[in-house]
Parts: sequence; structure tokens; C-alpha cells
Amino acid sequence: MKTLSGLTQKEIEQITDELKASKFRARQIHNWIYLKSVSSIDEMTDLSVKFREELKAVAKISDVKIKVKQVSSDGTIKYLLEYPDGECVETVLMRFDNRANLTACVSSQVGCAVNCSFCATGKRGFIRNLTYKEIIEQVLTIQRDTGLKVTNVVFMGQGEPLLNLENVLKAMEIFNEDFQIGARRLTVSTSGIVPQINKLADLDMQSTLAISLHAPNHIIRQQLMQIENKYPMEELKKAMKNYVDKTGRRITIEYLLIKDLNDTVESAKELAYYLRDIKCNINLIPYNPTEKNDYKKPSNNSIMKFKYLMEHSGKKVTVRLERGADIDAACGQLRGKVSA
Ligand code: SAH
Ligand code: SF4
Repeated sequence: MKTLSGLTQKEIEQITDELKASKFRARQIHNWIYLKSVSSIDEMTDLSVKFREELKAVAKISDVKIKVKQVSSDGTIKYLLEYPDGECVETVLMRFDNRANLTACVSSQVGCAVNCSFCATGKRGFIRNLTYKEIIEQVLTIQRDTGLKVTNVVFMGQGEPLLNLENVLKAMEIFNEDFQIGARRLTVSTSGIVPQINKLADLDMQSTLAISLHAPNHIIRQQLMQIENKYPMEELKKAMKNYVDKTGRRITIEYLLIKDLNDTVESAKELAYYLRDIKCNINLIPYNPTEKNDYKKPSNNSIMKFKYLMEHSGKKVTVRLERGADIDAACGQLRGKVSA
């Protein structure tokens, strides 16, 4: 029994060939899967009843289950999905009232090996990589469940996408070609895996690269992110510059603001200096409390002051709106478990 979700048009053609049907049937099935997101083969109403029966005998739509679905008061939806081997990941759908965009925040791994000190996912350790099919199934599940078409995908769920690069790149290609989501509407967020950033530069990636920097200097970054020991900020900077040079694309710098730790005027100045020669926008992320640790949310005053100082340095700065905190769907809160 084949699973249709995740198959390219060519792969669907193999099935229709076996059933002695035309390539046009494969195209219809492809549209039903990626653009109309049906939940059953019976909904593919432009196929004859007879052909649908033949197809049902050899294929099904999906083998992913929605284990838990939570809807936030702000409209954000969080899904806990279960794959056939019993492993679960979370996927979040965000809508913003003032925009037509529907953004899916997808996971790339079960757990994460990078183990940043502020992140709930890291606390679980690394379980396994997701295949590209498991990655795109997250978006298909959202589309099937809501009946809506996802317009943007961000790799900001569980996992470090650049440590599962092959599957992430293949998923991006399918988002682009099969879902018809433009490359610029895809964002890969990384904790800063230097060799893989160089690889993306060589591949001339036209999607958005977001770097989780989170600190203005080596000492603070070491405290927050162990990865700083392996790929220190100076090396990361070289990789970012190489990426900008080769792709011509502007990088997004993600900067978690934690009260009294990295939200001070001094930190803002140091950050501005570090970023002075990097073509980038800055996205400030007020820290979301997760489990037991000593980190605290920054005050609104310090967020605004930090934003002002970074803008003053000539960068475009946004403050990330918190989405879905009431259902633990906000950044860093994804654990991939039913209960804490
Ligand atoms: N592993 C990748 C992508 C997933 S995390 C990365 O780290 O970039 C997506 C974003 O959420 C990252 O910028 C991450 O640092 C941030 N994040 C993690 N924990 C958070 C928390 N408790 N509050 C706010 N943002 C958090
Ligand atoms: Fe992994 Fe990203 Fe969480 Fe760090 S912030 S532990 S890299 S998912």
C-alpha cells in the first residue's frame, strides 16, 4: 500500500502507469493531494468511481495521525502528530489578522541534539531525523484539517534543520514545486551550523536563512548555546558573510531577549558592532518562559529600547509577536510530548 502524501508527480505516475491510467490522472491526483488537500480518495471527484476503487486498493492518502489539536485564543493551532513508528512532533499554524498569510511552523527532527539552555525541545535530547515526507506531511495535515492553503513555511519547530539538511532541502523543493510556495516564503532557522551554512551558500539558496544568534558576544552565547563552543561567533560571522556574498540574500538575525542577561544597552551596542558589516534584518524574540530555569521575560521598556538602539545602527528590526502561548505553542515551547 503506497502513501500518496509526499509523492512527486513522477512518483504518482508510476502508480497510474501500473493501473494503466493516463498521466493526466496522475496530475489530477497530485492536485487533490497538494492543492486541494483531500482526506480521502473518494473526495477526488473528477476520477471515475471505478478508478477510485482501483486506486484505493493500492494507495492511501496518509499514515500520519493527529494525536492532539489545540486552538489558541489568537487563532494559532498546534498539532501533535504521530508517525507510524509512534514518534510524535509538533506543528504550528499561525495566522496574523492583518495579513492573508498562513504560516506553518514545521519540525525537522524529533528532539534536538543542540541542547540550548532556554529551549524545551533541547531538553529532550535527540531522538531521530524526520524524512522529507514526514516534514511535508506536517503541512499537508494542516491543509487537510483546516481546508486552508498554507502560504509560508518556517523551519522553526522542533529540531535543528541544518543537521538534517538533505531531508530539509528535499522538503523545500517539494514545498516549492508541488505546493507552489515561492522560495522566498520558506525560512530555515539554524543555531549556526557553520559548514552547512557554507553549503547553502554554495547551493545559492534563495529562501530566507534565519540565524539564531541570541547573544552579543562569545561569553553570553556560550552560556545560552553549547554550539558556540563548536562554531564560535567569529566563524559564524564569516559563514554569514559568505552566504550573503554568494546568494545576494539578506539574512535574518534572531535574537532572544532575556531580562538582564542580553537585553541591556551595552548588549545592544555590542550586537550592533558585531552585525555592522552583515546584510541582515533583526528579529527580536522576547523570551517565552518554558520550564525550570532562571531566565525571565524582558520588560516592554527594555524591548523597545533595544529595538530603538538596533534601528539606530541602521538595521530593520521587528519584534516577534508571541503566538499561541496559552497552548504552549510559542517559540521554544514545543516538547513533542502529550504532557510535560
Ligand atoms: N533549531 C533551530 C530552529 C528551531 S527553534 C534554531 O534554533 O534556530 C526556532 C526559534 O525559537 C529559534 O530562534 C530558537 O532560539 C527560538 N526559541 C527557543 N526557545 C525559545 C524560548 N524559550 N523563547 C523564545 N524563543 C525560543
Ligand atoms: Fe535545538 Fe533550536 Fe531548541 Fe537550540 S533552540 S535546542 S537548536 S531546537
